[in-house]
Amino acid sequence: MSRPVVLASLVGTAVLLTAFFVLSQTAFSHKNLATTPVITADRGAFEPSETDGTASSETADSEASSETAEAELGPKRFDFRLTSDDTFYSIMSLFGVSGTDIHKIARKSRPTFNLSRLRKGTVFRVFTLDGNFERAEYRLGEFDVLTIEKETDPEPKSIGYTIATRELPWEIREHRASGVINNSLYEAAIRGGTDPQTIMNLSDILAWDVDFASDIRKGDTFGVVHEKIFVEGKYLKTGKILGAEMMNNGKRVTAIYFEDSEGGTGYYDESGRSLRRTLLRSPLRYRRISSYFSKGRYHPVLKRYRPHHGIDYAAPTGTPVESAGSGRVTFAGWKRGYGNFITIKHDNSFSTAYGHLSRIRKGVKKGARVDQAQVIGYVGSTGISTGPHLHYEVRRGKKLVNPLNVRPKPNSTVPKADRERFAAVKDAMLVRLAGDLAVVASAETETGNAAGSDG
Ligand SMILES: [Zn+2]
Repeated sequence: MSRPVVLASLVGTAVLLTAFFVLSQTAFSHKNLATTPVITADRGAFEPSETDGTASSETADSEASSETAEAELGPKRFDFRLTSDDTFYSIMSLFGVSGTDIHKIARKSRPTFNLSRLRKGTVFRVFTLDGNFERAEYRLGEFDVLTIEKETDPEPKSIGYTIATRELPWEIREHRASGVINNSLYEAAIRGGTDPQTIMNLSDILAWDVDFASDIRKGDTFGVVHEKIFVEGKYLKTGKILGAEMMNNGKRVTAIYFEDSEGGTGYYDESGRSLRRTLLRSPLRYRRISSYFSKGRYHPVLKRYRPHHGIDYAAPTGTPVESAGSGRVTFAGWKRGYGNFITIKHDNSFSTAYGHLSRIRKGVKKGARVDQAQVIGYVGSTGISTGPHLHYEVRRGKKLVNPLNVRPKPNSTVPKADRERFAAVKDAMLVRLAGDLAVVASAETETGNAAGSDG
């Protein structure tokens, strides 16, 4: 059987194909299945769900009365949402590619991607021309696609297919979101058109200036300009924050993203001071405070009152613990009730301590230098401890202090040589942020609701 005949008979066998074509669920309701997976090659985004609804129904209408042969002319696209039964072999067979060729392609592809490892739920895309296999594509990552292309004029010794990877066209667009906080920043930010990751990033950037657990007041406002990354015109994920502004309990906090001429990047306030401090606000990214600094606390294990000179952060075993600042390790090992314990002397007058670790990271030993935010160990429950948590202490000189009251200095400012450029970046960003907030403020007075976002 020649290829076109095989394909024609397969395309005609609607029942057989029903199981494979997963372009969109609605598309399946059409009687003539040959029409449902059809989209011209240069039309859709990589993921099938966005464009195919209209495209396939149009095709279905126009072709309902025409013959099957006509439907095979021209370029067509077939998207397979893979089930556990689909294999590279089974899909390629549908398009009349011989078993020998399929095995050759698989072998040639192996150094790039093992085609026996197609993942369930992903999309395998095939393009045909006049009913013949032309090209297949399989997404390897967020930005890359594997292509298998039939050679129009194959070399004598070649298998007749070219295997390559190609970077998908991507772009970064700026997105503004803003809102008035009624209950939580999270809720307001989602309503204002942004995503959970951006909210996490925002609370990281403003960690020293706003305590998101306790400082947020009803009526506080926020505005944020961040990147959105699109691949083939389709939204992939959120990118970095370029600027942010919060009115928190009457106090304005601003963050401007800036790249200095040395290649350093960071967030700065309006006067050019870094929003990062010599100590992190917390040595854990995701945390819940389970016990505060106090002068007398009933100790659940020792069963007596004793002062608690640190903060306990409840977190699952294995959560990475970061050094709060750059400095030198002064102790790393077992220390009685503290279990696995690390102390670090920082370059300023501070030192910090980390207790009950399940594990100390390799290379973290007495005398070693660590950077700010470098992972030094992992949360655990070693020593005298009732459950997985990090015991964290801060000392200024020799004196134990409450970590939540510490206000370390900004760890840098915009370099002198970049001041002018920073001023320009800042002014442009403030205009964007302020303009957006003004719109939201008027929406708020009219509707009692907050939302505002654009491209
Ligand atoms: Zn503790």
